[in-house]
Amino acid sequence: MLHLVLCFSVWTLIFTFLCWRSLTIIKQAVSYLKRLHQIPCDKCVYFTRDYRLKCTVNPSIAMSESAIGCRDFLYDNQRSICNGCKNQCIDIRKIPKYSLFKRKSTHLK
Ligand code: SF4
Repeated sequence: MLHLVLCFSVWTLIFTFLCWRSLTIIKQAVSYLKRLHQIPCDKCVYFTRDYRLKCTVNPSIAMSESAIGCRDFLYDNQRSICNGCKNQCIDIRKIPKYSLFKRKSTHLK
């Protein structure tokens, strides 16, 4: 009978420890994701959406945690939030001529 009680208490301790550890990991993941969502680069006018040069002002910190609170952030109101999918979308028709995304051809004549 003593063996049964001892086995039950050991498994209870192991199960409690695993639950506590899982909750801790989930809390850390959620706080890390919240921090990553504070990166403002996808809403910035200087963000190019090109992996070779992500930002024309601060390319070394673009899309990283260092970009949180970037002093050069300038909100790009041409990129609107889609109501249907709640994702960041770019409507090509709304991009003005002076935007980086629609460059004029510069051929020398
Ligand atoms: S200027 Fe700052 S916020 Fe804007 S894209 Fe570059 S690093 Fe990101």
